[in-house]
Amino acid sequence: MYRAAASFCLGLTLVACAPEAPEQSELNAAVEADSEAATEATPSADTETEMAAAERPDWRIVIHGGAGVILRENLSDEQEAAYTAALETSLRAGADVLSNGGSSLDAVQAAVLTMEDDPLFNAGFGAVMTADRMHELDASIMEGSQRDAGSVAGVTRVKNPILAARAVMDQSEHVMFAGDGADSFAESVGLDMVENSHFTTDRRREALERVLDTQQRTDADRHGTVGAVAIDQNGNLASATTTGGMTAKMHGRIGDSPLIGAATYAQNGVCAVSATGHGEYFIRVGVAKTICSRVELAGEDIQSASENTLGQVADLGGDGGVIVMGGEGEYAYVFNSAGMYRGMMDADGTLETAIFEADE
Ligand code: ASP
Repeated sequence: MYRAAASFCLGLTLVACAPEAPEQSELNAAVEADSEAATEATPSADTETEMAAAERPDWRIVIHGGAGVILRENLSDEQEAAYTAALETSLRAGADVLSNGGSSLDAVQAAVLTMEDDPLFNAGFGAVMTADRMHELDASIMEGSQRDAGSVAGVTRVKNPILAARAVMDQSEHVMFAGDGADSFAESVGLDMVENSHFTTDRRREALERVLDTQQRTDADRHGTVGAVAIDQNGNLASATTTGGMTAKMHGRIGDSPLIGAATYAQNGVCAVSATGHGEYFIRVGVAKTICSRVELAGEDIQSASENTLGQVADLGGDGGVIVMGGEGEYAYVFNSAGMYRGMMDADGTLETAIFEADE
């Protein structure tokens, strides 16, 4: 069962949500034929609008702030307003970069950065705690033109993990650093470093004590992972993801978020993905790369590719969601949990946010 935000997209236009993948002429012949048939079957004054909407937007950014059992009855009006404002802040940070001609890579970084600093989310400040009462953070970033990527796992001192991931990509010959080495590298390139206690909030401390007492982790004990995907004015895709992982995780546990191909992937002309959910399952399915491979090799649209891939996660017993952007800037939110903090902003002036399944 999917809480795909299809209707969220459908509210804008059917065509914009599932145009054909580019440069996949053979594989996409069927998709094209389908969409032509649909257009022919319903000739209307809207056809031109739909066709125009199917063109690549000048730029677009899509974000998430984690998926999970996020129910309206569990969120006060004030909390809902606070999350909505935080999502808008993140979208505007990314949009500022893109509207000024900046790269999708800088945009996803900027969008993730605001959420890392916001204790509403499980990323930097306000991240969940390990069973050892520490914070161990994971982050990754990738751009689609050369498929350059950087990531850090289990960092404890760098203030903004996404900047460390970006530094790995730009300033080292490597793709991934872990633990002390990752923090030392971040420090060596001049990033802001903090005491591990900088990330702690009462809310997360209380959650940890409850989980340690009850030995039960609720869904809320891990949601709040953040991510962004974007396309810039040059058609370049990028993706970024940061998390604190799950409450009371074991020291040294690494989730999907720092793994290129599991939570994060970007390939121009194909797709960009940022994932959130039960990391162990997302790693085993290789969610982000599998979605992009289905688009590239099987000619699936991003919605179907995501549903099929999350179907594998569900079959194994996992849950979560993805934000996906296709090569032409089409986008989808797909999740098999009860909610996902999410939003989109683009050059056409659209700014949308949603939290619950029923927001669509
Ligand atoms: N994927 C993250 C992890 O397993 C958690 C989440 O996104 O909810 O570390």
